Amino acid sequence: MECYPWGDSRRFHSHSHFMQMQFGGRMQRVAIDAGFTCPNRDGTTGTGGCTYCLNAAFNPSYCTPKKSLTQQIDDGILFHRNRRREPYGYLAYFQAYSNTYAPISVLKEKFEEVLQHPEIQGLVIATRPDCLSEETLDYLEYLQKRTYVAIELGVESCRDETLRRIRRGHDFDCVRRALAGCRKHHLPAGAHLIFGLPGETPADWLADTDTLNALPILHLKFHQLQIFKGTPMEHEYREKTADFHIFTFEEYVEFIADFLERLNPDIVIDRLAGEVPPRYLAVSHWHNIHYDEIVKSVEAELERRDSWQGKIYDKKSGHF
Ligand code: SF4
Repeated sequence: MECYPWGDSRRFHSHSHFMQMQFGGRMQRVAIDAGFTCPNRDGTTGTGGCTYCLNAAFNPSYCTPKKSLTQQIDDGILFHRNRRREPYGYLAYFQAYSNTYAPISVLKEKFEEVLQHPEIQGLVIATRPDCLSEETLDYLEYLQKRTYVAIELGVESCRDETLRRIRRGHDFDCVRRALAGCRKHHLPAGAHLIFGLPGETPADWLADTDTLNALPILHLKFHQLQIFKGTPMEHEYREKTADFHIFTFEEYVEFIADFLERLNPDIVIDRLAGEVPPRYLAVSHWHNIHYDEIVKSVEAELERRDSWQGKIYDKKSGHF
């Protein structure tokens, strides 16, 4: 069986393999809502939020700040056990809103409570690139010496024009600074991207692999654009549909294979596509396809091409 540079036979550098190497088995993330807000909602950079944002779409039902963090973890573990998911261990996933957007005393209280839970072996912290002060990074570096800590940055686009249009409230230089800060503090950092934002094209996203390959990114998570009901983006889509690229399923599978071929094989692929309950979607051509099927289809496409992540990436130049 062929073995790729990351050390297993899958055609992309999968997060499950990375976890196997780190922990010795599959780690289940347990999402929690710690009651944070975000600067794009409380008036610091904006009040309406990013135009596509609907936190309810991806927050599991057990996950609410009305419960203690410990209770959310207990309920989350039960939720996964009831679905017969028997992982090697659990990581607390601070997912909703911006999970470093609070004074250090509050962060300490929340992260320490979670780390007291006997089943939790580390933290995955989703946040915005403009919510990582030097003081926060110092604290996370201290935590990282005690336990596994991964940072997940909402990046969404590599282009300032798009970041303005979707009202992110930060530019791409802010992303570069946040990633450099994480590297300086020895924190593994990942980025979340959305393919399909208005004004961008598949050719742009393939070209963006050059930018991404040159950054200190440990893992990448990407989603096809999902337009949620009632968001400003739904209205924008109705008015300017031609500005959007909504993938069909077959096209997305081919695109992801193209994207992976250009990507540095050192980058771990945390997620290939988004999956939310269909009731939240205003527009979708393939909402009823399960995530496992998307992964299998991308792997089948890579196999059909006899290709793999980084096949046309030139490590010496940093460019494909
Ligand atoms: S996507 Fe994140 S940063 Fe944007 S409004 Fe929603 S929670 Fe805030």
